[in-house]
Amino acid sequence: MKLIDHISNAKGTTLFSFEILPPLKGKSIQSIYDGIDPLMEFKPKFVNVTYHREEYIYKERGQGLLEKIAVRKRPGTVGICAAIMNKYDVDAVPHLICGGFNREETENALIDLQFLGIDNVLALRGDPIKTESIFKPEHGGHKFAVELIQQISEMNCGNYMMDGIQMAPTNFCIGTAGYPEKHFEAMNLEFDLQNLKAKVDAGAEYIVTQMFFDNSKYFSFVDACRKIGITIPIIPGLKAIKTLNHISFLPKFFHIDYPIELSTELLKCRDNKAVEQVGIEWGAHQSKELKKAGVPCIHYYTMSNSASVKEIASKVF
Ligand SMILES: Cc1cc2nc3c(=O)[nH]c(=O)nc-3n(C[C@H](O)[C@H](O)[C@H](O)COP(=O)(O)OP(=O)(O)OC[C@H]3O[C@@H](n4cnc5c(N)ncnc54)[C@H](O)[C@@H]3O)c2cc1C
Repeated sequence: MKLIDHISNAKGTTLFSFEILPPLKGKSIQSIYDGIDPLMEFKPKFVNVTYHREEYIYKERGQGLLEKIAVRKRPGTVGICAAIMNKYDVDAVPHLICGGFNREETENALIDLQFLGIDNVLALRGDPIKTESIFKPEHGGHKFAVELIQQISEMNCGNYMMDGIQMAPTNFCIGTAGYPEKHFEAMNLEFDLQNLKAKVDAGAEYIVTQMFFDNSKYFSFVDACRKIGITIPIIPGLKAIKTLNHISFLPKFFHIDYPIELSTELLKCRDNKAVEQVGIEWGAHQSKELKKAGVPCIHYYTMSNSASVKEIASKVF
């Protein structure tokens, strides 16, 4: 079922959903089930599965020679989606990125998803690969998420890449990413919002936000979106801080700020356990306020850790 239909069927109550990462290559799918099982009591209607493209590593080959090797540490997005739809009564939302795909590979990936009965896709550009400072599209691939959304919308109208032949239309519900604190590459928030509007005009039916820790930023973002004519649901994404390492890693990696009340509490923490407790309390506080405000769904980034999300959800849902 399409994600927007889940939202409209909920008739104004706030849904619970979460995102998981495929396990590191070599780990079994049981590690995925172990993360999902504790969260099923909160009746998610959909679960997102991230996509991770290749990274380049260099191996020493002796005599001063280095070999550049492409590795995908977390393959398996589509297989996990099929497995969790089969095992649990939930829809799976695979993330599909521009990076590493040309248009034909994208088309073929979408055909696979359609054949598996997957009705939803979160369409993203993807970050630059770790060893490059700017995003480089694949030859014949998409430079921005808006182009990927256009391609999926075209397929939803039966327009595939083969010229002049009408094909069976796909029926994907397309999601897109939004950034309450601005995407780090955008020149300013207004420019970023205009680009978001272009993704909506191209066919995105809902937005999932980057994580944020200050609800006022989400509320301002929603207001700004509404002002420029974005009317689709905007699902807030939340992350529970869990370790001392997260304190500096999350702002650095995701380009987000902690509000002063949160950073004051984090500064008092001496070990991971203390950080985890602050993360749970802050996540519950954010969630309760968002739920009270009537958001369509709260989407939790588990990042392979469902214990804190379970604690938060048990206080909120
Ligand atoms: C909910 C969520 C889930 C994610 N899941 C994944 C995942 O599974 N795998 C993964 O690799 N990454 C994931 N990401 C990260 C995401 O891929 C990065 O944030 C990426 O840098 C941007 O993706 P986007 O889809 O927002 O790109 P875009 O919408 O293309 O925007 C990228 C930048 O380009 C600018 N821009 C857009 N259009 C134009 C234009 N026409 N001209 C000039 N500038 C333009 C935008 O303002 C923005 O600064 C996720 C992010 C979010 C918020």
